[in-house]
Amino acid sequence: MKYIFVTGGVMSGLGKGITAASIGRILKNRGYNVTAVKIDPYLNIDAGTMNPAQHGEVFVLYDGGEVDLDLGNYERFLGIELSSMHNITTGKVYRTVIEKERKGEYLGETVQIIPHITDQIIDFIHGAATEKIFSGAPADVCLVEVGGTVGDIESMPFLEAVRQMRGSIPASDRLLVHVTLMPSDSMGELKTKPTQHSIKALRELGLFPDVIIGRSDHMISAHTKKKLSALCDISEDCVFSAKTVPDIYQVPLMLENEGFADVLVRHLELEHPVVDQTWNEAVSREYVHEVTVGIVTKYGVEDVYLSIKEALRHAGRSLETEVQIQWLDAECFTDAELSTCDGILVPGGFGIRGIEGKIDAIQYARENNKPFLGLCLGFQLAVSEYARNVLGYHMAGSSEFDAPITVITLLPEQEDLDHLGGTMRLGDYPVFIQKGTIAYSLYGTETILERHRHRYEVEPAFIVELEKSGLKFSGKNKNRMEILEMPTHPFFFASQFHPEFRSNPMRPSPPFIGFVTACLAERGTNKNASSGKKE
Ligand code: GLN
Repeated sequence: MKYIFVTGGVMSGLGKGITAASIGRILKNRGYNVTAVKIDPYLNIDAGTMNPAQHGEVFVLYDGGEVDLDLGNYERFLGIELSSMHNITTGKVYRTVIEKERKGEYLGETVQIIPHITDQIIDFIHGAATEKIFSGAPADVCLVEVGGTVGDIESMPFLEAVRQMRGSIPASDRLLVHVTLMPSDSMGELKTKPTQHSIKALRELGLFPDVIIGRSDHMISAHTKKKLSALCDISEDCVFSAKTVPDIYQVPLMLENEGFADVLVRHLELEHPVVDQTWNEAVSREYVHEVTVGIVTKYGVEDVYLSIKEALRHAGRSLETEVQIQWLDAECFTDAELSTCDGILVPGGFGIRGIEGKIDAIQYARENNKPFLGLCLGFQLAVSEYARNVLGYHMAGSSEFDAPITVITLLPEQEDLDHLGGTMRLGDYPVFIQKGTIAYSLYGTETILERHRHRYEVEPAFIVELEKSGLKFSGKNKNRMEILEMPTHPFFFASQFHPEFRSNPMRPSPPFIGFVTACLAERGTNKNASSGKKE
């Protein structure tokens, strides 16, 4: 097993995850099996209870793990499925150590950060790295991304664990990549001082980077590389630019063009550097068409909907269509704005704010034959809208929002609302699709697996009435409604699950393909269609 450790300098939010995932892709294109571990130095056990407006989307894994959004980047870039083991948090580490202490497993020792916490971290990293995720085959390389910034108190035990691990791994089996910020001054010159300071902080902890990747708005010049090389004891050809690019899937290609693969192959003593171009070709396909999708949201933060943005991009790319996103504030959008969109998407969510606006947008889509895609909460609101405006139950809604008539109710197993962490219906569940439906035509199979994250469902007592009036539940799991569609509408499709979490550039999600295809058809006839970049 070879390890690539990725640390971050100067500030967080540099796109360390994308950089690490891109390094993994470069190796994957050369036939290596790559897995990834993300370390989050916070005390939360997982991301499930965290506010997405502060931390970005909560990504859901097949085993129900609610994790940091970087795990989504790893899955999308590497085409793999990770489990909860692959997201290590301070909370998980301390919980395990304290449980062991209570069981008496430390045999009377004084339990300390070094060695007990650091040993536990090392155990967790080894465990995740060697978990079989490729139909039985172990990974060749494991990326270990240490979240946070070097110098933070929170990440100290993790960096110490990395230092100890490095000592026990042969040099050709490990690489330390430091991703740092290279700001430019008013003259456009890239400044190296913040990088010098963060490398100094890293070295004080006994860690010596093999590669520096500078996040910047420009390519790093040969002159600056030389300067960094001299100041940071690193060879010039090991300093790379990760210039900001509009499309994250271009990052592996960009690093590749700067010679990153040569450094990887040389340093890790890799064989067979034959490059499979399939992925590079898929992510570079030219756009011929364009559509605008309106996403009705309550958060103005795009990272909250990261997997949806990516799933739209994957489906769009496969249809040679550039998908522009128009973010519509659920509390103040106008019908005129909806009319300029070629399709309307209502994403998942929690809490009452913005609910009425989302229901209005769904009504607009249904009545004006606009393509509509509803995800999780979007599915539940589509049922509520239908019950209100077609069945005539004007007070219909979800018990989550104390509606007087509840067409959406708490799942029977969800009675305990005192424990919110990790207790929803989470992860992969099978969905059984009826033949002859839109869902079947999109998935092409009767049984699918998709990822879930919800506490509420369609009230079973209303199912017959809803179906009789024209709403078709084309995907179910026993008495649990999973997919709805409207046979009389060009494309009105919603799912209780989150198809966006399983989408990747090589395997776009079927509902997203159906939606973007319908948006393209709508674009052909939409006189109000908006053009130009809205995202
Ligand atoms: N709040 C809804 C539920 O718990 C929808 C959840 C979601 O959109 N992920 O069922």
